[in-house]
Amino acid sequence: MTDCIFCKIAGGQIPATMVHEDDDVLAFEDIRPLAPTHVIVIPRRHIPTLDDAAEADATVLGRMLLAAKQVAAQRGLSKGYRLVMNVQAGAGQVVFHVHLHLIGGRALTWPPG
Ligand code: AMP
Ligand code: ZN
Repeated sequence: MTDCIFCKIAGGQIPATMVHEDDDVLAFEDIRPLAPTHVIVIPRRHIPTLDDAAEADATVLGRMLLAAKQVAAQRGLSKGYRLVMNVQAGAGQVVFHVHLHLIGGRALTWPPG
C-alpha cells in the first residue's frame, strides 16, 4: 500500500525507532507515546484492520503477540503491560494497517474507557 504510513515504515521510507524486526513482524516506538513504554507492533504485510484478517493470517497475528511479549520482557515490564488493538474508526483506529499498542511502565486503569 503506497499511501500507508506503517507500510512506509516497513519499507524504510519513513524513519522509526525499531525495537523488534523479524521476517513477519516489526515493532517500533510510537511517535506520540501515552506511557513510558508505547510500542507499535505490526505485520510487515499490509492488512487494513483485524476485520480484514483471514485464516492465512493466523501465524502473523500470533507472531505479533509473541513479539509484544518479547519487547515487554526486554523492558522489564514484569508487573504488567497492556496490549490494545483498535479495530475500525469507531474504536479509535486512525492508521489502517493492523497494529498492536504495547503500553506499560505506568499504572494502567481498567476499564480503559
Ligand atoms: P490507532 O489510533 O490505533 O490507529 O493508533 C495509531 C498509532 O500510530 C498512534 O498511537 C500514533 O501515535 C502512531 N503513529 C502514527 N504515525 C506514526 C509514526 N510515523 N511513527 C510511529 N508511530 C506513529
Ligand atoms: Zn500498510
